[in-house]
Formats: sequence, C-alpha cells, structure tokens
Amino acid sequence: MQAWVIGNWKQNPATSRDVDTLLEGLLTAIYADTKFSSNCCNLMVAPSDIHLAAVNARLKDTSVLCSAQDISAHSATTGAYTGDCSAQQVVDAGATWTILGHSERRQYHQESHECLLQKMTHAFTQNLGVVFCIGETQTQYDAKQTLEVIDNQLSVIKDLLDQQPDITVSLAGRLIIAYEPVWAIGTGKVPTVYEVSKTHQHIKQTVAGFANNLEDMTVLYGGSVNADNADSFALDSMIDGALVGGASLKAESFLAIAKAFS
Ligand code: PEP
Repeated sequence: MQAWVIGNWKQNPATSRDVDTLLEGLLTAIYADTKFSSNCCNLMVAPSDIHLAAVNARLKDTSVLCSAQDISAHSATTGAYTGDCSAQQVVDAGATWTILGHSERRQYHQESHECLLQKMTHAFTQNLGVVFCIGETQTQYDAKQTLEVIDNQLSVIKDLLDQQPDITVSLAGRLIIAYEPVWAIGTGKVPTVYEVSKTHQHIKQTVAGFANNLEDMTVLYGGSVNADNADSFALDSMIDGALVGGASLKAESFLAIAKAFS
C-alpha cells in the first residue's frame, strides 16, 4: 500500500505571496532530492479555500495533490449558505479530496454526527475523496475511552453505507481515515507508536466490518508529527502515513516526513 503524507495548512499562510513561497520551497526540495520518490508516497496539501485555485494551478503537472479542509453540510452544489463553500465549488477550484471532521471543526464549529454525515454524502456525490479525522480528547484518553469514542465517530461511515449501499463502490480508494488524538494536535505530545498501532488495527477492523471492499483501509496518524519522530511512526505497518499540521508549513520538515514514509 502506498503511504500518504498530507499537509493541513489550516488558516495559514497569511498572504498569497507566502503561499507561493511555501509551495515553491516544497517543489524545489522535492525536485532536488534524488532520494525522494513520489512513486512511494502520495503527497497532498490542504490550503485555505481562498488559496485553493492558485495552489492547484501551481501543482498541475506535479505529483502533489490538492485537498480542501472542509465543505458545506448544507448543499453539495449552490444555495443561500453565506460563508460556505460546497463540494462542487472546491472541486471546481481543483481539489480532489477534502478533510472532514477535523477536531478543530468539531470543537469550534460544533460539528455533529449528522453534520458530518451530510458533508460526507455531499463529498462523494461530487466524487471528492474524504480524509476523515477521528480521535479522542485528553479526558477521554485518560478515562481509557479511546476505542469507544472512535467507534462512535466511525459510525458516520456505517450510517452513510446504510443509507446508500451503492456508495461502497465510490468509497473504496476515496476514503482515508486520519487518527488524530486531540491532545496530540499542536502540543508536541504524542502517543507511543504501540498505542497508535493498536488503535489503527482497531480502526481497520471496524471499517472492514462495514463493507467487503473496505478491507485494508488507509489509516494515517496525525498529532505533532515532525521530522524527528516521523521515522518511528513510519516503521509500523499499521500506520499508512501522516496528517501533518505545523510541520507542513516548512518545506524541509514536510519533505523529511514524506521521506520517512517513502
Ligand atoms: C492537525 O491539525 O491535523 C495536526 C496533525 O496538527 P499538528 O501536526 O500541528 O499537531
């Protein structure tokens, strides 16, 4: 299975010029590095919607893919939803994937099970791949509720399949799970590789139980991955890549993580 390394730029960088600098730095570093083979690792970046079209234009004819960070829950296409951007609109801007359910969306925008079910449905109707984020908070981790929380969050996929059994065909290869413990995001704290591995095994088994063709689901780890710790995660066969926040804003560290998974 080819690894995935995805950079979630969040609400960064500040200006279009900074976006260009980041992107040029990344592409220059990729081309200059003879040891890095994009054939071994899928690379993707997720800029803000405002930068999607420009980033996509620059990435055309490169092996780096472009993802949105979110889409509207209200409509897959158009409508009176001020401030929203639909699945159709991000596809038009060049995104082939979207992140959904990031813990910052769950926390600051109160995204619920129903909301995420809507978003996932809209993504697949527009043939947009989904990087679905799940993970427990510090309190839930301390209370040993990780697997329970994750099962609950994964039930969005089960509900989608129950509502639309035919969608299974489009799901295979178009769905990636990112396990991101909330307490590890941007904190410098990480779970042990053993803990991540066990959790990923559970996620893979659970999703495989939803439909036959969802066996061997790609499951990424996210949460304070950096150039120094990427190797240890990459060595574990249950960890199929990384979703990277802070370290994706520097070309060198993002590429070092990608190399670890290549
Ligand atoms: C994220 O926000 O998805 C993330 C993993 O952030 P960081 O790498 O900065 O912890």
